[in-house]
Amino acid sequence: MQKKCRKVAVFACSGIGKSLGTVAREIGYELTERVRPHDTLLTCLALLVINDPETQKLITENPVIVIDGCSLDCARKSLEANGAPLVKAYQSIDFFKKHKDLKPEGVAELNDAGKKLAALAADELAGVVDELLRGGDDGQANESRNHILQR
Ligand code: SF4
Repeated sequence: MQKKCRKVAVFACSGIGKSLGTVAREIGYELTERVRPHDTLLTCLALLVINDPETQKLITENPVIVIDGCSLDCARKSLEANGAPLVKAYQSIDFFKKHKDLKPEGVAELNDAGKKLAALAADELAGVVDELLRGGDDGQANESRNHILQR
């Protein structure tokens, strides 16, 4: 029987020097601090690089949402390389494609459009969090042990 999932682990890429990387991180903050603070946990991707045992446990026992800043998908690849069994993966550029009036600018500090884009993306991901946690509650074997990649 599958274990009950209590949290969705959220990771964002480091996105140094790119506005869309900053958007990815901002989506993580919005999702975990405003939209679903009790159901999610934002975690530092670099902990996987150093094989931190608690982070390894987190990603193998809980579903993961990962947000990358560009098509290189650094964060998603890190999760896969570390054996995360259930990963829902997104790129911040895809949210921008849906909201082209919100062009993110800035790296250290996003402009207002970038902040609004991140907030809208987090709102959209709320349903994904709920779905993942429902899937963890049903006790059924399901596709959740496969990688589910969405873009
Ligand atoms: S996915 Fe793109 S923006 Fe994010 S860390 Fe990798 S290269 Fe940088």
